[in-house]
Amino acid sequence: MAETNTSTEATEFDPVDADPGTVYLVGSGPGDPELLTVKAHRLLESADVVLHDKLPGPKIIEMLPEDRREDVGKRAGGERTPQSEINERLVELAREGKSVVRLKGGDSFVFGRGGEEAEYLAAHDVPFEVVPGVTSAIAAPAVAGVPVTHRDHASSVSFVTGHEDPTKEESAVDWGALAATGGTIVVLMGVGRLPDYTKALLESGMAPETPVALVERGTWPGQQVATGTLETIVDARDEADISPPAVTVIGDVAASRESVVDFLQNDYGDASEDD
Ligand code: SAH
Repeated sequence: MAETNTSTEATEFDPVDADPGTVYLVGSGPGDPELLTVKAHRLLESADVVLHDKLPGPKIIEMLPEDRREDVGKRAGGERTPQSEINERLVELAREGKSVVRLKGGDSFVFGRGGEEAEYLAAHDVPFEVVPGVTSAIAAPAVAGVPVTHRDHASSVSFVTGHEDPTKEESAVDWGALAATGGTIVVLMGVGRLPDYTKALLESGMAPETPVALVERGTWPGQQVATGTLETIVDARDEADISPPAVTVIGDVAASRESVVDFLQNDYGDASEDD
């Protein structure tokens, strides 16, 4: 038929605004607003409401209009909002016919509970779309000059949580098995328990001189990096006063930073200068 379809040009960029009654599980990337995907940015502009916590970082959070955002990170009193409450709120808003963005730091499906939210939404007949983000597990090391793989140093990479107590019998992370891969280990949520899992890795035979890098607030104002070895990194952490959110990179790649850092232009500056 002679009907014209304006959206058939392959080269045309045809972004779509957020749909009513739909939940978008959006990863914000590590924190630099320019590392939001184009889709994430558009959804943040068009959604009726954005549910977020602190992890998208100060720059992205300050872009969100006050009257369209809900901070579901901490409740009054300081404790973490239970996941069940967030799940229920997502369903409630969608059933009111709102377009809803659930914004998580990095990628929602990497230690971001996106999987649990997707299951809950599906079980409650709420349509949702997944919008992948740039995970801090790769991006924070990258902007500090650390590639998580390198043809000369690491052919595999494991992403693990450092939140678990490695001395627990039933610990979900098998540090010995990770050490045996010979690849890079990237630990998220692993600032507090750094002494425990570096010890577990040493005990399972990993070389004490294995390079380690800590990257705090990657791409946020005030990004910080501390480097050392499996033996020295706890002291380096304390000296640099590294605090969450930070990723730990363990493996030979952590030392590649030294050969590139003088020319690396990813400068996120000092948080105090930024205000
Ligand atoms: N979904 C997130 C991870 C959530 S778990 C992602 O894909 O990035 C929370 C952990 O993520 C933090 O404890 C820290 O280890 C890491 N993290 C998140 N943002 C970070 C950032 N900008 N710099 C360094 N680490 C970050």
